[in-house]
This record gives sequence, C-alpha cells and structure tokens, in this order.
Amino acid sequence: MKRQQNLGLATFRVEQTNRLRFCPECTRDMSANFGELYWRRDHQLPSVLVCPDHGCTLLESTVSFSQHSRHEFIAATPKNCPRYARPVVQVMDKLQLFHLQRLTRLSVEVLDSPPKPRTFAGWTAFYRRRMMEAGLARSSGTMDQQRFNQEFKKFYGRALKLLPNVMEGDEFAGDWLAAMVRKHRKANHPLYHLLVQNFLAQCDQHVSPFGSGSWPCLNPLARHHSPTPIKEVSQHRNHSKMVGVFACSCGYVYTRCFDSATGKLGQPRFMHYGPLLEPALRQLVAQGASLRETGRALQLDPKTVVRLAGELGIIVSWRLVLSGRVQIAPTCAKPTQKLPPDNPSDPVRHRERSAFARLD
Ligand SMILES: [Zn+2]
Ligand SMILES: [Zn+2]
Repeated sequence: MKRQQNLGLATFRVEQTNRLRFCPECTRDMSANFGELYWRRDHQLPSVLVCPDHGCTLLESTVSFSQHSRHEFIAATPKNCPRYARPVVQVMDKLQLFHLQRLTRLSVEVLDSPPKPRTFAGWTAFYRRRMMEAGLARSSGTMDQQRFNQEFKKFYGRALKLLPNVMEGDEFAGDWLAAMVRKHRKANHPLYHLLVQNFLAQCDQHVSPFGSGSWPCLNPLARHHSPTPIKEVSQHRNHSKMVGVFACSCGYVYTRCFDSATGKLGQPRFMHYGPLLEPALRQLVAQGASLRETGRALQLDPKTVVRLAGELGIIVSWRLVLSGRVQIAPTCAKPTQKLPPDNPSDPVRHRERSAFARLD
C-alpha cells in the first residue's frame, strides 16, 4: 500500500481491487507442484481480469483488504481461494475475452519490465505523434476527438464495460480518453495508458495522402533555406475529399485536394499570399509590367492578380475582358489580345474562368 501511495495510485479514479484474486487453474498447479498456494502479484492488477497463463477469468478470494490490516500476512489457502468463488467479471463473448487477455499480457509486460519514465511534455508529444500516425489528428495540435472516441469504442466494444472506471454509462468516466491526447498535466493510470497505446498500435499506420512531408513552398517571392520549408499540413474533410492546407512561415498558403474515391491528388491551389505580395506587386505595377508578366512573376492567374491588387488598393491599368474565352488587355491596347493556354505544369492554377467579370 505504501508503494501505491508513493506512485500516487491511491488518487486515481481507477479503484484498487478490494479482494485478493486468484486463478483456479493456477491454484491447482501450485498444489500439485509445490504443495501449497501463493498469491500472484500479476493477478492483483486492476487491468488484469484474466489469468496471464490460463486465460480464464480470475476469481475473488475471501480475503478483503477492508477486513484485514495492511501489515497482516495472509497465506493463500484452499479455504480462502475456493474453487467456486465469484469471478471478478462476467465475460459474455469471445471478443471481450480477447481484449482482456491482451490487456493482461500488456499489464504483465509493464509489471515485469517497467518502461522508461516520461515527462508530461513527453507523454503529450508521444500521444499526439501516435494520433497523427493513426490518422486521428488534423494537425499535431488538433486531435479528431470525435473519431477517436468512436473508433476506440468500436475497437474494444463491450470489453470497456468490464474494466474498472473506464465507462460511466456510455461515456468515458471523467472524460479520461480525451484527456489522454490533450496536454498531460498529471499522471494517468497505467490502465488508461495501456488501453490507448494498444488501440493506437492496432490502428493501420495511416499514410497521409499528402505524403509524410516536409513540403515545398510555392511562393515565388520567398527565399527559403530549405526546398521544403513546410513541416506541417493540416487536413480536413470536404465531402469525399480530403483537403490539405499547406501554410508556410512566409505567409503563403496553398491547398491540395485528395479524392479518396479516385485516389487522385489534385493540383495545388493558391489560397493566401502573405506579406511579400504587396511590395512586389506595387513594384511590378510601377515598372509597367503587363498583367500577363505580373501573373507569371507572382505565379498567379490574371483574375487573381487583379482581385488581389484591388484588395490591396493598388491602382492598375489592366482590365479583363470576357468574350467567349478569356482575354487580357491593358486599357490602351485592343481587347482582342489573347492569352496563351494555361500551362498545365504551372504549380498554381485556377478554375474560375467562367466566373470572370468584366473589369473596365
Ligand atoms: Zn492461471
Ligand atoms: Zn514560404
């Protein structure tokens, strides 16, 4: 008990077992091999409900912690370990039993060779990374709690209800599951760690459709030391598509769509330019660059150049003309000047041609 207090186990929501437990198969082996019974420490862990050796449900002995002093020595005997004692849980199906056996194996591993300790920050980073790998995080700081919750329940099924202080009705007792992937501020019970780690280990190693990074910045005005300065992509769903948002430290943001139905990854689409745009655009305008030259320099389509110039309050002398197909003309030139077809290898293309407005 002293050791439990040192570990802080007494403060956890997961209750200690209140009776010593035994396995009826083990007691038979003990009698046959040693002529006497003994308590096994692995049978006493809250996360161990079945025997690690025999896989059968543990039984409750008549030795209750509340009836005896914690310093008292009580030997295991056939009398306090009766063969037809009450099982610690009623296992209803094979899936429940499978999960309890697996949890038992993991618990015994931890008991026999405790893992290296981690700091709270270490645990936070560990679970966030594992959540990203499992495809259950939108970014390293945003967990998909709802899916995590659902997938976790789906995986363990009714086994969760057998475990102590895991469920409260249909919800996780004290919201412990969400807390495991939030910032760790206090120690969490080993049972919770084992449940989450076991769940995450079985999740298919989710491979992001956008690759494992890092990713290039498409801002032609930025000078980065690395060819792939974007270290993080945040993902969200848009109907059947997964949208990746690639935001660079220079302020430039682009998106790409992954269509899970066809498995196709769409071309990058410009979203935001950042602070490098305005001085560059002002300079191009001052130099008298044509709209097409400006678009090429900024890697933007003409309509977007005109829109952004308007948003920045930069007065330009270009206009866009819509007549059958897109035409660009400086105000002093004939409006029949044609734009060459879009270069399909352009990294940033826009698909809003039909929406072009006439800007005179
Ligand atoms: Zn056993
Ligand atoms: Zn950048």
